[in-house]
Amino acid sequence: MQQKTIKHTVSCFGIGVHSGKPASITLYPAPANTGIKFVRTDIAKNNEVTARYDFVSTTNLGTTIKNEHNVEVATIEHLMAALWGCKIDNIIIETDGPEIPIMDGSSEPFIFMIECAGIQELDHLRKYLEITKEMTIQDKDSITKISPSEDFSVDMNIEFADKLIGKQTYQFTDRQRCFKHELARARTFGFQQDAISLQKMGLAQGASLENAIVLHEDKVVNSEGLRYQDEFVRHKMLDLVGDLYLAGMPIKGHFETYKPGHTINNKVLRSIFSDPDSFRVIEDY
Ligand SMILES: [Zn+2]
Repeated sequence: MQQKTIKHTVSCFGIGVHSGKPASITLYPAPANTGIKFVRTDIAKNNEVTARYDFVSTTNLGTTIKNEHNVEVATIEHLMAALWGCKIDNIIIETDGPEIPIMDGSSEPFIFMIECAGIQELDHLRKYLEITKEMTIQDKDSITKISPSEDFSVDMNIEFADKLIGKQTYQFTDRQRCFKHELARARTFGFQQDAISLQKMGLAQGASLENAIVLHEDKVVNSEGLRYQDEFVRHKMLDLVGDLYLAGMPIKGHFETYKPGHTINNKVLRSIFSDPDSFRVIEDY
């Protein structure tokens, strides 16, 4: 398996879910072993932020990364998931502001962009992070267990008091499931009353029915309904693969996760990298 980048430059325009202001990104091809890098074009210097777990600065309303000069890029997770799904190892992402556009709240528009740009194989082997021992990570009532496996696989359970979501389970195995068809279209979701309080605090200014499933009194407010009957757990899976791609390479390991979120997803990577016995980096597949 060779490393990959995109063939051509490609751009998209949207709005930032937090600011509500226009936001655009341009994706550029990059040579082997570059990794995934964000560049803020609205800032003149020290404007590069590496997409890696140890640069994650905030995880409460999405995943934000920040460099040592306090330059931030927010809401990277759905784009990261699309890059994981398309097996892109190396890319430069220019952004004209502090947020990646939310688009429709899923990864599908980013998959479309990458497919329009085309995918280019590079003359270097892909690296993988292989889990070599069991570990359990906890954050409040969220728990994730990791264990060695030849593939990337996840057993996910979510539980919400809202009756429409309730308990949902999803199993994902990289070799058997297709990210593009089974996860990429799953949108982010939120509760109408939470959106109202966030907006009063000046947050989530761009959140709307165009970029999220909105729930109110156990019902979906969006007139088009759901894209998948279990869209909520699929979106949580999309978030997980996007967050885990901040390992800097794809992972081979089994994940069992209960009530996952951006905070525990980052804590999982920090736990793995803080224990040299828990992983090794390999090149073969
Ligand atoms: Zn999300």
